[in-house]
Amino acid sequence: MQRAAARRITLVCNFIVLLAAAGCSHANAAACPLHTTETLEIQGSTLCLRMGDASPSRRQLLHTWVVRSANIVANYYGRFPAPLVVLNLESMDGAGVGGGHATNDSGLAIAASAGRDVTAAGLSDDWVLVHEMVHLALPEVGRRHNWLAEGLATYVEGVARAQFGNREIADVWAENRHSMPMGLPRSGEGGMDQTSTWGRTYWGGALYCLQAEVAIREQTGNRVGLQTALRAILEETGGYGFERNIDEVLRIGDAATGTRALEDLYQQSKITPQAVDLDLLWSRLGVPTDPKTQPFDHHAPLAAIRIAITAPYKSRIGKR
Ligand SMILES: [Zn+2]
Repeated sequence: MQRAAARRITLVCNFIVLLAAAGCSHANAAACPLHTTETLEIQGSTLCLRMGDASPSRRQLLHTWVVRSANIVANYYGRFPAPLVVLNLESMDGAGVGGGHATNDSGLAIAASAGRDVTAAGLSDDWVLVHEMVHLALPEVGRRHNWLAEGLATYVEGVARAQFGNREIADVWAENRHSMPMGLPRSGEGGMDQTSTWGRTYWGGALYCLQAEVAIREQTGNRVGLQTALRAILEETGGYGFERNIDEVLRIGDAATGTRALEDLYQQSKITPQAVDLDLLWSRLGVPTDPKTQPFDHHAPLAAIRIAITAPYKSRIGKR
């Protein structure tokens, strides 16, 4: 979902009240703001959940949703991408999950809404919270480069959930195949830094990520991918709480993979619209027209790269 840079969330730290607040069971709960309902520790990071007057059963639902989403993102990045974040979990009508926002105006915060009738299964299928948490891993690179922030959140959400076993691999590729054409430039549109349409921002950005992923893996014999670059960017910049120049961010990612994939692709596409041959890309990766009903082509030239991108996390342990 869109990052709302203009939205201000004031964090008021009241240590005495917080230490006494119900649900704040961990030693560094004092870092959470007033009205925190529950404090979670996820792989060394603190998540402050604010759930208003939610019932105990609803709190449990939301707790499970947050823990799963945070672990999906933490496994992708090697750690949760922020030392402390406030999650404002609001209610809405219905059984769905509404829009989310990640903000960095006054401390890191994520706002998301879940329907009053939402179920555990509905929350398990949710993409919004993972998407917002992925935003925490990239420094602020400026509005002109919002396509990079939204593209990464869009692309990594599917890959990270597939790696975790939270989303079918075929479903991820089906969505990429279906949605990435929306990221192609239309007649008269400029490069990635010159257009701010929804399609270019989200799916054009996601296509940039997939192209970079494939290029990195082709150039490294499929030894490392975009994930390695993104982990280095998080480690060296500190993520969304900091501002960095986009060129510097891409250089950090490329240094980690020993390539120039991110920088070269950016130079090619920032002011020049790229007519990417998507049919050729799917063919080389072995992605069928309808991945949910048709088999992948395991003999395609880049089949091993496709498999490596979404390989389940458990099969990777000990391999990197
Ligand atoms: Zn977003």
